[in-house]
Amino acid sequence: MRINTEDKSMCCGCGACVHICPQLAITLICDEKGFSYPVIVDDKCINCGKCVTVCNFRKKLDVSKANKVYALRSNSKDVLQISSSGGAFTAFSDLILELKGSVFGSILGDDLRVYHKEAKTSLERNRMCGSKYVQSDLKMTFLQIRELLQKNSFVLFSGTPCQVNNLYGFLEKVYDNLYTIDFICHGTPSPKLFLDHINMLKSKYHKDIVDYHFRDKKYGWSSTQTVLFKDKKKNASITVQKNANLFYKNLSLRPSCYVCPYRNHKYSDITLGDFWGGDKLFNIYDNKGLSQVITHTSKGDYLLNQLKTSYWLKECSSEMFTKIKQNQIIQPSETNKFWELYCDKGYEAVIKKYSKYSVKQIISFNLRKIVFKLHIQNIAFKIQALIKKK
Ligand SMILES: Cc1cc2nc3c(=O)[nH]c(=O)nc-3n(C[C@H](O)[C@H](O)[C@H](O)COP(=O)(O)OP(=O)(O)OC[C@H]3O[C@@H](n4cnc5c(N)ncnc54)[C@H](O)[C@@H]3O)c2cc1C
Ligand code: SF4
Ligand code: SF4
Ligand code: SF4
Repeated sequence: MRINTEDKSMCCGCGACVHICPQLAITLICDEKGFSYPVIVDDKCINCGKCVTVCNFRKKLDVSKANKVYALRSNSKDVLQISSSGGAFTAFSDLILELKGSVFGSILGDDLRVYHKEAKTSLERNRMCGSKYVQSDLKMTFLQIRELLQKNSFVLFSGTPCQVNNLYGFLEKVYDNLYTIDFICHGTPSPKLFLDHINMLKSKYHKDIVDYHFRDKKYGWSSTQTVLFKDKKKNASITVQKNANLFYKNLSLRPSCYVCPYRNHKYSDITLGDFWGGDKLFNIYDNKGLSQVITHTSKGDYLLNQLKTSYWLKECSSEMFTKIKQNQIIQPSETNKFWELYCDKGYEAVIKKYSKYSVKQIISFNLRKIVFKLHIQNIAFKIQALIKKK
């Protein structure tokens, strides 16, 4: 018995099967859409079944419970600026770094590829801050984590819910020194499409790119993407937003995201998310972000109780939690046509057809930029929130 590699929707690409195979018979290979899947060399496989046992993605899940729900926000402007929401990840990872432990999370490397890495210092950890709307390559992190846990080091792993649950599958035993964080997950887009996007921007602007932000707060706590060129100029034009548009339309996601079993099943100690609407609930109108924190285990509660006073923290009622539960990701009917066009004609063809912005969207996007340039965002967002409240 060995894993069925035919059904792509049943694989999140975590690589646990690759690491567990005693025959080194499995390799992750990237398909034409840019997602990696296990491929087995028949001659090497001895049908031991270890790859089936290790894969948690295919197993029936127990329903997880939320112990407690909180709204959290850092008091530090710098932390808020580099975090997607209210800086909850920094709060929890600081606790592990203080214990001289290791934090594993996703970074955008110098080569503009998204992958998981270890951090031992706050400087290294800061590279993990901020959401990257690309599937993160776990590389060898599961093996590194097992080794650290066996040496009794504290480890915090942060990733998508499927990555967290498959880490538990890989480890095979419970470690008291392991803490895990996941997030409310909208799905992970193709890394190949993101690299195509970078190449498109390079050739449009005739400049090299040194950095990219998927959630730049230059224009508030929404999802403005910005690119940083080698000449240190930042650009947040509509063209830069085009890749994000495919993500929000659910077109560029990994097939497993459409059948994701983790929408309301979480195995992490803590789940994080954007606390959209929290501005109205808590009268915070500066548009700098707010995190929702859901603890699932006693370890999650323990970490939360260790948080320092540098964070604004409010426990929320169960009614508030119901409001922030997530929905299943609906696969758009044109998904197959989208990928056919991509494989046939390339990235710019799918951008042209599937990432159009309406005149209303362009006006509102540019208005937001003007409001920030004039430094009248606080007044503008307060008025906007009051109008919505009525
Ligand atoms: C692909 C993706 C989809 C998301 N969808 C939603 C959603 O639908 N609703 C919602 O409320 N929140 C969503 N989030 C979570 C949200 O954007 C924030 O990441 C979360 O609220 C934590 O914010 P923070 O301010 O505490 O910390 P931040 O500093 O923003 O934390 C970033 C953390 O996320 C991890 N991370 C970043 N990118 C990736 C990646 N590609 N793969 C794995 N781990 C990654 C980093 O390792 C780090 O631990 C999503 C995040 C991602 C990456
Ligand atoms: S989800 Fe992970 S363990 Fe399961 S088949 Fe895919 S790569 Fe292997
Ligand atoms: S059945 Fe065993 S030998 Fe074959 S691919 Fe799976 S883990 Fe490797
Ligand atoms: S939507 Fe589900 S399958 Fe897709 S990355 Fe998120 S947790 Fe994994």
